[in-house]
This record gives sequence, structure tokens and C-alpha cells, in this order.
Amino acid sequence: MNAGTLRDLDRAHLWHPYAGATPPEPAHPVAGADGVRLTLADGRELIDGMSSWWAAIHGHNHPRLNAAAREQLDVMAHVMFGGLTHEPAVRLAVRLAELSGLPKVFLADSGSVAVEVAIKMAVQATGRGRLLTIRNGYHGDTFGVMAVCDPVNGMHHLFTDLLPRHVFADAPPCDHGRHLGPAGERDAAPPDPAYLAHLDELVARHAPELAAIIVEPVVQGAGGMRFYHPAYLRRLRELADEHGVLLIADEIATGFGRTGEMFGCDHAGVRPDIMCVGKALTGGYLTMAATLCAEEVAERVGVLMHGPTYMGNPLAAAVAGASLDLLAERPWRQEVGRIEDGLAAGLAGAARAPGVADVRVFGAIGVVEAAAPVDVAKVQEIVMGHGVWLRPFGRLIYTMPPYGITPAELAAVTDAMSAAAAALP
Ligand code: PLP
Repeated sequence: MNAGTLRDLDRAHLWHPYAGATPPEPAHPVAGADGVRLTLADGRELIDGMSSWWAAIHGHNHPRLNAAAREQLDVMAHVMFGGLTHEPAVRLAVRLAELSGLPKVFLADSGSVAVEVAIKMAVQATGRGRLLTIRNGYHGDTFGVMAVCDPVNGMHHLFTDLLPRHVFADAPPCDHGRHLGPAGERDAAPPDPAYLAHLDELVARHAPELAAIIVEPVVQGAGGMRFYHPAYLRRLRELADEHGVLLIADEIATGFGRTGEMFGCDHAGVRPDIMCVGKALTGGYLTMAATLCAEEVAERVGVLMHGPTYMGNPLAAAVAGASLDLLAERPWRQEVGRIEDGLAAGLAGAARAPGVADVRVFGAIGVVEAAAPVDVAKVQEIVMGHGVWLRPFGRLIYTMPPYGITPAELAAVTDAMSAAAAALP
């Protein structure tokens, strides 16, 4: 099919994320993806500045991941997980347990489901029904999960009346990472004692009814791409221990090196009771996520009431295992550090654009925050004109590129973001 036909048939039949059934801006047909590049059906090549939503950390069409999928395909594509098991799942669970220090692994089929499972674990383990969550947080789109997302950030407000009421802490100050202003880079801010006191007060007040505290460690993703001081996470760990509440770390976006540590929690030296991982778990190949928990949590849970049809899918587990092997072999800390420096240097000019409120960088994440909501179509037109694929939302133009991006490719991304920043009203 040619690009025009694909676009028309797509518009006629397919929903896309957070879109109407027939959106004004048609989706761009992609014909292929290789390394950091996407090839559109009309022949244009774009650098995937989003790692296809945090996932493709090794880039696309990776020979090792392809081989893992092919080899597994010849052995077994899928088998039910009820009463059966297989080597890819066992190997993956062992690897995840080693990496996280959490030995009990539930293999879920998407990030949202991994968070649903974490909530069920916490409720079953404690016999309590409420969670403490953080404003500006985002944990996925299913019903249990929407209730722990910020109800006012616009993604889920249509459903608030149908959701259980949890306890919301204020959003932490977004003052961590490297902030670039018109006068250059400012020093990292120390933790705010008033915010720590807010957490103390809120947890103490609600502890008897709380099953768990759920948090995106160090980086709040889709709720605003906000970077916060690890001291807040450390305090939440202390408060959870003090009050007998579980700590759930949602590492679905932050896991597997994106922030410069293996997990966001590592910045705070904190081990959660329950951890959710997804996105980069399969290197962006297949839909799999996982909920990991401590032995003592598993004991308190007893029989966990969850079991999706595609749980533990062997293809996804085999590719996830290969992706973790690749991660162990590649110098990801240096790569992420190099990307952080490249983003900070390349986005410094954007900080001087009049329509820009903040430019911030943390690990392999770069964010240009506009003073007002951006015109998504216009920003995309500009960045695509620079050969780059980005997907802005709200006031944010941001990137989280694959770890193997070259300095020249990264410069193309920051040039594209700077051009979009310069055109902001
Ligand atoms: N948790 C976090 C922190 C996320 O960023 C996301 C997705 O963006 C999710 C959960 C949901 O994952 P999925 O989209 O795979 O359901």
C-alpha cells in the first residue's frame, strides 16, 4: 500500500492514543525502523527522539533482539502460564530479581497492568484499601491505575467520579536535574524542608488506612516530565517503614538506566517493597511488563488474584532476556552521561527563547517546557523538518533518545528542539 492509502485507511478504522476516531492530524505511516531511525512510507527518515515512548533503548531492528525473537519463535510462541512454565520466563525472573533485589516476579502484559497488580498486591498484603499518591503522577490508563494518577492533569478527568478516592500528596518541587536558564545552568537546589514536612504530616494523618505509597522515582513522566530531589523518595521510604505502609516504585519509565542509574530508586539508595517495570524491558519489541516484590510482601499477599491470558509470553520473555543481556554488555552509564552532557549543551540556547519557561536535563531525558501549551502540529512540523521524530504534549517538548545515538544525531535532536523553542509565541 502506498503512504496515502495507508493514511486514509488508518483514519477510517484505527484509534490512536488520546485521539478522536478520526483525528484532524492523520498519523504518519512508518515503513521501517532501524537503529535510531524511522523510515516513513513516503521515504522520509526521522531520528526516533522518543525511543518510541522510552522503550527502544538499544535502537530498532537490533540483530541480537531479532535473533532472540526468531530463535524463540521456532521453539514456542506462546503457552498458557497457568500450571505451565518455560525457560525464557524463568531466566527473565532470575535476572529481574538479581537486578532489583526483589525476588518475586509477576510477568504482566503492559505497564498499566503491572501497576494494577502492584495495587492488588498492596491491598491483599495489608487488608487496607487506600493509596497515597503524588500530584502530577502518571501510572497508566486502566481503571484502578487512573485512580492513582493526578485527576487534574487532563488525561483522566472524564472518569474521576467513577474512581476510588486515594490520598494525594502535593507535587514535589521540580528542581532536580540540570536546569538551564537564560543566564546559564543553575546549581541544583537542596531538598525543600516544607515539602518534607508535608509528606510527614500527610502520611502520619492517613497511615491507618493506607495500603501503600505509590511513586514514580525521581522523575514524574507523562504528568509533566518533572525531576525531583531523591531526598523526597528517601523520606517516603522512611515514612513507609515507620508507619507500616508499603512503598511501590513505578519504574516503568525510569527503569533500565534512563536516569543514569539502573533504577530511579538507586538515586535515593532506596529499595521499594514492590516495583513495576515495563517499556524498555523488551527493548521496545514486545508488550511485557513486570511487578516485582519482596519475599515478605509475597508471603502476606497469599494467592494473588490476577492472571492474564498472555502472562509470561515466551517470545516477549526471550526478547526481554536478550535486552537485559545487551544492557549488561553496553557501557550504558557512559552513554547516558554523554547524552546528558549533549542535551545540556545542545539545549542551552533554547533556554533563551522568549516562549520558554524552563529547560531541564536529567540522564538521557531532555525537556523544553514552554510558557503556554504548545501547538503540537506546528512543533511536529518544525522538528520533522529537521529530520527528527518527537511527540510533544501540553507545554512540553521533550526527548529520551536510544542510548546508542551518536553525537551528530543528538545534535540534530537538540537543533530541532531549539528551532521549535525559537518559534514558540
Ligand atoms: N507508569 C509510568 C510511569 C508510565 O510512564 C507509563 C506509560 O507511559 C505507565 C505506567 C503505563 O504503561 P503502559 O503504557 O505500558 O500501560
